[in-house]
Amino acid sequence: MTVADLPSENHARGARMHALITELYPICRSITGDGLRRTLNRIGQEIELQRTQIPSGTPVLDWTIPDEWNIESAQLRDTSGQVVVDFADHSLHVLNYSEPWSGTISRSELDDHLFSLPDQPYAIPYRTSYYQRQWGFCLSHATRLSLADDHYEVDLRSRLEPGHLDYGECIVPGSTTDEILFSIHCCHPSLANDNLSGISVAIELAKLIADRSSRRYTYRFIFAPGTIGAIAWLDQNRETLGRIKAGLVLTNLGDEGPFHYKLARTGPTIIDRAVGEVLRDVDGEGEYEIRPYQPYGYDERQYCSPGFDLPVGRFTRTPWGEYPEYHTSGDNLSLVRPERLADSVDRLAQIVDALEQNRRYINREPYGEPQLGRRGLYEPVGGQPLAPEDRMAMLWVLDRSDGATDLLEIADQADLPFAAIAAAASRLEAAELLGPADTEDKGNSD
Ligand code: ZN
Repeated sequence: MTVADLPSENHARGARMHALITELYPICRSITGDGLRRTLNRIGQEIELQRTQIPSGTPVLDWTIPDEWNIESAQLRDTSGQVVVDFADHSLHVLNYSEPWSGTISRSELDDHLFSLPDQPYAIPYRTSYYQRQWGFCLSHATRLSLADDHYEVDLRSRLEPGHLDYGECIVPGSTTDEILFSIHCCHPSLANDNLSGISVAIELAKLIADRSSRRYTYRFIFAPGTIGAIAWLDQNRETLGRIKAGLVLTNLGDEGPFHYKLARTGPTIIDRAVGEVLRDVDGEGEYEIRPYQPYGYDERQYCSPGFDLPVGRFTRTPWGEYPEYHTSGDNLSLVRPERLADSVDRLAQIVDALEQNRRYINREPYGEPQLGRRGLYEPVGGQPLAPEDRMAMLWVLDRSDGATDLLEIADQADLPFAAIAAAASRLEAAELLGPADTEDKGNSD
């Protein structure tokens, strides 16, 4: 894998990702059920997926795996029998996890079961009721206002019964068991940016990592329903959580917004520093935002909960709740852009490069400045004269390589691109001016 893919390759990648999102978009997913399994099946056609099923009623941490939910159809009909809201038209039309209900209901009673957005009158909202049994329809406010009959007919055919919660994991082994974790929620129905963009980006990233000629870390991609899926995974993997050296929760990666990174709970962790360096180097000042940890949001709040406190941050473009289409039918196939999806994969690949290349070294000639010219270190590289930045990078790496300071920290202190610092270290090591600080370097300085 190279840091910068050819533009044409990126174009093809973006188109491929958008096509997958288009394919997955109509499926009615939830935290359990056939829609979730179909989605995991499709992911498994792209990358190798290990599947886990946990039966309903199983305690996981402080929670219990709920009954499985599946839906066949849901219609709301007026007194003339005309269908006014139909689940077949859009998976958002039904309150996710609705219990079944059929019968005639007065217009005023029906109102307690309708969900719409007065300030976005043409959008269908996304609503769920996983842990409180109820039924409902989500519809545009314009449609709701047009419902003028005295009575309506409800025909909502769903099933809530003991079944399973499913999740899938793709593991790309490295030369050590130290792990980098990526977590992607896949429980949202027809929502493109919040959910499907994360799935498509993770698939492409997993393929790129698998194609690397070498990997120090083992990479684990978890595709699981939000909250309960991450809680179930943590419950099942408590014994091996110590292997996780860094992690990212991925979602909202296809919109036009700049990158936003949410720091892990206790830091700075190595993932905070790797993401910070890459965004600084590639996106530049004012083009991205780093935010502090808070105990709300996506599944980072499970991985970072105080008992686990794992080094897991969250990587998105526009954060949840900060774009008007969020959790509505406006989060659709036109909101996610192929080039933005491909660019998100690029940036994550650069973050992986930084994690893989980060090392601690010891300067073997720390007494006086070593004579670099004599060792050929001022000579052109690949036909290009050595840039002043590359000279400075060598001097900084020699200056700070005390066995304790890693390359990410040196890049930060020198205010030079991480790629220049890593390249300088590799040249200095080849010239035997640097030695590895620890042959068993776990790459975790935290
Ligand atoms: Zn969401």
